[in-house]
Amino acid sequence: MTVARQSSETQEELDFLKRTKLGFDKAIQFVHTEIKPIERGVIEFLQQPFRQLTVRFPVQMDNGSIEMFTGYRVQQSRVYEPTKGGIRYAPDVDLDLITALAFDMTLKCQVVGLPYGGAKGGVACNPKKMSRAELDRLTRRYAYEILSIIGPDTDVPAPDVGTSEREMGIIYDTYKMFSRQTPYASAVVTGKPLNLGGSKGRREATAQGGAYVLEEAVNQKHIQRLSSLKDATVVIQGYGNVGFNIANILYQDYGCRIVGICDSKGGVYSGDGLSPTEVMAYKNSNPDRSVVGFDGLRHVPQEKLLTSPCDILVPAAKETQVLGHIAKSLEADVILELANGPTTDFADQILFDKKVFMLPDILANAGGVTVSYFEWLQNKAGESWELTHVKEKLRNRMAVAYSNIVETAKRYNLDMRRAAFVFAILKATDVIQERGIFP
Ligand code: NAD
Repeated sequence: MTVARQSSETQEELDFLKRTKLGFDKAIQFVHTEIKPIERGVIEFLQQPFRQLTVRFPVQMDNGSIEMFTGYRVQQSRVYEPTKGGIRYAPDVDLDLITALAFDMTLKCQVVGLPYGGAKGGVACNPKKMSRAELDRLTRRYAYEILSIIGPDTDVPAPDVGTSEREMGIIYDTYKMFSRQTPYASAVVTGKPLNLGGSKGRREATAQGGAYVLEEAVNQKHIQRLSSLKDATVVIQGYGNVGFNIANILYQDYGCRIVGICDSKGGVYSGDGLSPTEVMAYKNSNPDRSVVGFDGLRHVPQEKLLTSPCDILVPAAKETQVLGHIAKSLEADVILELANGPTTDFADQILFDKKVFMLPDILANAGGVTVSYFEWLQNKAGESWELTHVKEKLRNRMAVAYSNIVETAKRYNLDMRRAAFVFAILKATDVIQERGIFP
């Protein structure tokens, strides 16, 4: 399970899909040789997405012109159904990226014990350069194109980068128009507006789940150089839904000092601490929609911010951000991976050697899909839970998941990421064995 010594990332490690598959293959080999033999056919069943849909569709733009877009929906695993996973709108969306993210979803759902297989979807577009009306038309048409493979009991999308409650509301409406008789149709998507059956606490769930996992690690004294969250210093990469919410929760509920924040345009750093809401108000009010320039602070490039002094680093932007050369000069004691796939294997090994405590993505950011599961349950039962109830249930699930991964790491002498993979693979192979293969 150890990565051979090398001087920088291999091309495979820089490619998110290849890296995800590599990590999975290594973990499955470990399970096969050290824990229990897995049949070759079962390995292939787990390795290969069972459905990859690519759709190309036209959208009328505000100026009357027609533009073609490409969208995807990948359902990775049928170990459990429905499958579950977000929808991403970004220029770099392609089949490989969506497949890798769907893979992560399969593992993540097993880590937090949800009865879901993994899925992911997306459209290659630049939402920042499109009007609200254009995005609404794109969403409605994309929803129509994937309609035949989604549903409350088949595949349930949710928001991801570039999408939000608004897109989920439109997907629900489109689904409902074509599925008049379906009971509990609102369970076709999660992360909806509250009026359409969204769950209280869903918007901040990914960050909240991450905070609970971090709290467990600190309370159980697993982070050598960090004994309390009070006054702990935090740097956050990415200031969208997840980045803002984790900043706010750690600042308001745990008394952390948020010293650095960056977005795609750059960052700011202040040893005295930043107010998350003031930084967000500034970001929303300036024409660049960026944190850069907040309070007259000097501009700090993204890479420099990641290696700035702090106790806790939270990647909350996108994949492949913490590379080997950054890991070498990183000062944090713990990394809370709220983004999917931010750290390369090469960087991982360096961080492990430096005794930086890693809370890996498929554990740390699983709060989002967990509250999505709660939303799905509420929709099916026609209920609406109070926020305190949602948070209590989330806290319990994240604490159990954390203990399971720590226990797996100890039992098999693995780092936290390998342990999360191994735990998920063991669960998935058990389920396949218990269900059997149809027919
Ligand atoms: P978002 O679109 O709301 O925010 C992304 C932020 O990252 C933006 O502020 C953007 O400017 C910034 N960014 C992009 N590239 C950057 C770079 N190179 N350096 C610094 N900042 C950069 O997206 P989000 O929903 O907050 O998701 C963030 C991450 O969390 C993604 O990896 C996503 O897959 C993951 N995630 C999200 C959820 C969820 O519930 N939204 C759940 C699990 C995981």
